[in-house]
Amino acid sequence: MKILVINAGSSSLKYQLIDMDGEVVVAKALCERIGIDGRFTHKTGDGRVVTKEVAMPDHTAAFEQVKLALTEGEGKVIDSLSEVSAIGHRVVQGGSKYDKSVRIDAKVLADIEGYSSLAPLHNPAHVQGINAAVAAFGKDVPQVAVFDTAFHQTMPAKAYMFGVPYEYYQKYGIRRYGFHGTSHRFVSARCCELLGKPDGKGTRIITCHLGNGSSIAAIKDGKVVDTTMGLTPLDGFLMGTRSGALDPSVVTFLMEKEDLSPEEMDNILNKKSGMLGISGVSSDDRDIAKAVEEGNDRAKLAWDMRTYEIVKYIGGYVAALGGVDAIVFTAGIGENQIDLRREILSSFGYLGLKVDEQANDCRGKEREITTADSAVRAFVIPTDEELVIARDTQALIG
Ligand code: ADP
Repeated sequence: MKILVINAGSSSLKYQLIDMDGEVVVAKALCERIGIDGRFTHKTGDGRVVTKEVAMPDHTAAFEQVKLALTEGEGKVIDSLSEVSAIGHRVVQGGSKYDKSVRIDAKVLADIEGYSSLAPLHNPAHVQGINAAVAAFGKDVPQVAVFDTAFHQTMPAKAYMFGVPYEYYQKYGIRRYGFHGTSHRFVSARCCELLGKPDGKGTRIITCHLGNGSSIAAIKDGKVVDTTMGLTPLDGFLMGTRSGALDPSVVTFLMEKEDLSPEEMDNILNKKSGMLGISGVSSDDRDIAKAVEEGNDRAKLAWDMRTYEIVKYIGGYVAALGGVDAIVFTAGIGENQIDLRREILSSFGYLGLKVDEQANDCRGKEREITTADSAVRAFVIPTDEELVIARDTQALIG
């Protein structure tokens, strides 16, 4: 069975075609600059690459390119679209309603659209992606929504409520939702297997998804009890261009002093802050690491601020969980940034955690990075959100 996994953004559309027989990626691609000038890159599992500049005025046009790339020309991987059994969509915001993946019907689609006010950059694009997928593949191909927020729905109210008047929760759904749930779910489930407790019972795990966007989750008995991202993916600690948590007065102070509109303030917090805003160097961690090596003080400050914030969150979650069995690192930075992992973990020597320097010297591979006598175990576990989406889709279509 082949499943198409779709991640539709406002001006981009990523897909992977996965053969569930062996869970092999048959092809993956990126349609960029939809509605601008259009760029399309399609890679097959056997190494063929097709790149073209092609106008894609909207998501429906992008899907036409997807269909062509899959079935014709140099990047052809299937004879006919009928080989695609189902389509799984990544959906960022599923609100308080969706605690697991679902088959998409008219009601689910209306709900995804309804949550647009909570994820204005993402959910409208997902709706376009779903509609375009139906138009391209027909109504008979089942479509499934896999929500970034779903795994975090087990958080208790004391963790997800913010200390603003309760009426805003009732009126607008203002609360912590958490994101990257698909990734936290995947790596925590794998960690439970590595701990020899595949059902998760009795485990206390802290998962660190460190990428351009980053979040940490505290997971007890396989269920999230707290996470760093909030109403939106802006909360938490310093990310590539996002500020993470700060004194809320900073926002009103700056808006007043700099005469900023809500959109302008939002843009500063999401696009100009974080590692980029502090270092003035880059949002990309490799550039930051290089600048630190070269003695750039502000890059070092950004680096140290992030490490400190992460250590504080992990420490807080150890308290929330009543101890910790394992800490997991994943995503672009978590899987590859050896120094950052060492610095974070060495702050937990007081818990009896001992880093295995040699094991930690690895990138992008599953590996235990603490010593055999370490009281707390730590792992690098590469994430695979597309695979989770494909597995959920397969399970839901039976
Ligand atoms: P997202 O999916 O959120 O866009 P990723 O999980 O791909 O992000 O992570 C991107 C980040 O990972 C970038 O900051 C990049 O610099 C960092 N990264 C990727 N590869 C490496 C590496 N080999 N060493 C250090 N950092 C890396």
